Amino acid sequence: MPQSLLTVTNLTVTFGQTKVVDDISFEIHPGETFALVGESGSGKSITALSVLRLLPNAARMRAQSITLQDQDLLKIPEIEFCKLRGRRIGLIFQDPMSSLNPVMTIGAQIAEVLQLHFQLTQKQIRQRVLELLKQVEIPEPERRVNEYPHQLSGGQRQRVMIAIALAGQPDLLIADEPTTALDVTIQAQILDLLKNLQQQTGMALWLISHDLALVSNIADRIAVMQNGKIVETAETGEFFRQARHPYSLKLLAALP
Ligand code: ADP
Ligand code: MG
Repeated sequence: MPQSLLTVTNLTVTFGQTKVVDDISFEIHPGETFALVGESGSGKSITALSVLRLLPNAARMRAQSITLQDQDLLKIPEIEFCKLRGRRIGLIFQDPMSSLNPVMTIGAQIAEVLQLHFQLTQKQIRQRVLELLKQVEIPEPERRVNEYPHQLSGGQRQRVMIAIALAGQPDLLIADEPTTALDVTIQAQILDLLKNLQQQTGMALWLISHDLALVSNIADRIAVMQNGKIVETAETGEFFRQARHPYSLKLLAALP
């Protein structure tokens, strides 16, 4: 077995009497692309938010353990956890507009992350911001660095979110429905970009999606979630050859 980067053991999340994540365990290996798929409402986002300690106030969570390499995430004090989030674990999600600051240039928003996590001079920061914009394939970065989020297309905004996440040089990037809000033609581009970046940087990519067809091209392993439970986990090839769970079979049968 490869050594694990993130290990989640017996995670349960409830809202009042309702269990939305039901005693799940899984692990993500260094450098792999791990896809968590399942229909809307099955508990995928809540699972990711549990790992990041970003659950809504009304949620109650318990877990036997959540570890990142050898660090027990459940035992880290809040103030240190804030530093780890955005640094060792990055997050992008569906709607980039809701997490970008509308009155701050995209360059300044990337620079802010660099300042928070690294000791760099202003010149180094500016250089690194341009590098990051190039890395996410934003054309003419020298000009666009001074633009505001509303001046960019939806796909470009998502690229900026990816640049912000990459700025911390994370070991793990969580991408929760990263293309759901985008036009179909742009979706594949963003997924290709994520895959390329994952290969360039060696980070692990945790892709969360309701769309098996979309993620199966780039995932190394697939876990299927249904009603708060992970019902099957397999390497992608294996999954296509011999998934067993009735819900996995239903997802496979629905593929175009
Ligand atoms: P997915 O990401 O798979 O679409 P979620 O993880 O967002 O699903 O949600 C799982 C379940 O938790 C859903 O049934 C949803 O209604 C419920 N849920 C999510 N957020 C809240 C909340 N703030 N209060 C109550 N229930 C919630
Ligand atoms: Mg979700």
